[in-house]
Amino acid sequence: MTYQINWQQILIQCKNNILNQITPFLKKLNQPQPNLGIGAGGDSIKQVDLTAENAIVNTLKSHKISFTLISEESGIKTYGEAAHKHFVTTDPIDGTTNLMRGIPFYVTSIAVSTKPTLETVHEALVADLYHGATYIAQKGEGSYRNNQQITPSKIVSLEEAVIGMDLNTYKVQNIIQQIIGLVKKTKHIRHFGANALELCYVADGTTDAFIDVRGKLRSTDIAAAYLILEEAGAKITTPEGKPLKIKLNPKQKVSFVAAANPKIQKTILNLIKTKKEAE
Ligand SMILES: [Mg+2]
Repeated sequence: MTYQINWQQILIQCKNNILNQITPFLKKLNQPQPNLGIGAGGDSIKQVDLTAENAIVNTLKSHKISFTLISEESGIKTYGEAAHKHFVTTDPIDGTTNLMRGIPFYVTSIAVSTKPTLETVHEALVADLYHGATYIAQKGEGSYRNNQQITPSKIVSLEEAVIGMDLNTYKVQNIIQQIIGLVKKTKHIRHFGANALELCYVADGTTDAFIDVRGKLRSTDIAAAYLILEEAGAKITTPEGKPLKIKLNPKQKVSFVAAANPKIQKTILNLIKTKKEAE
């Protein structure tokens, strides 16, 4: 399929504008921050989130693109006369807590789709704003990290594998039963605090799997990384092993298992219990 708009170029421009515009905030992080309320995704909004979102909106407007914005911060907003033609799903800053605390792991995530659904995403960008690594994918064209095509790892044993797990929740006792089998058999467990980038790490072989069974992650966090994983050749399903078919909406939550290859995916899925089995 061809698209008249050069989305790749525009998404990279969005990322560059975000970087330029958030730089002043990075120098003032130890000063008191204004209270800006709660974003559409349920987290408190920081000035840096809004600045990043504005950079995306203004970049798209400068190209005279009509679009519907699906953002973790402002929710759903339409711009231009044919706003239903392009859906732009973003978490302007994923890993805001890391950014605010000076932990060098935060990204911007932007996905473009023809409908507000995960399966229609056709362009994606996840950019590591600290280290300058930019992941790009276009449907049918593979995934790239700084212009180099990426592929996931071939590691199949849990002894060797590095597996990311998001356990950030007050209700960890509810999910521990689901994942205890996997935790017991995994030697190297990681969580860095920006799920969009951690999914890209599975896509490029940095890690071997990333799982999140909390049912808390927003679709806005996963939209771009989903295409990057798929195009790289990695696997992502529900914890039950079913295809991820979700609506793109800041309130839509998702649980998933992303894995580098079918073998390790099977091993992990077999070790994870469904919510019902865990009860
Ligand atoms: Mg965010």
